[in-house]
Amino acid sequence: MPTCQRCQSQVEADEIHDYAGQTLCDDCYMEAMSPRSGCDPWAVYTSTRLKDQNQTLTPTQEIIVGLVRDGGRAPIPELQKATGLDFEALQREVVTLRHMELVIWERQADETFALKAFE
Ligand SMILES: [Zn+2]
Repeated sequence: MPTCQRCQSQVEADEIHDYAGQTLCDDCYMEAMSPRSGCDPWAVYTSTRLKDQNQTLTPTQEIIVGLVRDGGRAPIPELQKATGLDFEALQREVVTLRHMELVIWERQADETFALKAFE
C-alpha cells in the first residue's frame, strides 16, 4: 500500500496523488493545492521535529552552555564545579553539545582545555 509522503499514512492506491514530486493522500493533496498565505505547515513541522531531536538541552547541558555564553571560555574545573560531574560524565555531555555545534574545546596557553562557543 502506498504511503503519503507528507503525513506518512497508508493510502489506497486510487486515493494517492502526485504533487510536486511527492506522493500524497487525499487530505494532504487538498491541503497542498490550497496553500494558506504566509504559512508553510510542512516547513514548520520539519524544523520543529529537528529541534526536538537535536536541540533540546538537559538541565546539565543548559548549565554548560550558560557558562560558555557568560564567560566566553569555561575551563574544565569551572564546568565540573558548576555541574557537579566527574570528568568522564562532563566529557559525555560535551560530546553531545559538540554534535549540536554549540561548543568546542580550545587549548589554552597553559596547555589545559577550556570550552568555548562553536563558531
Ligand atoms: Zn497525507
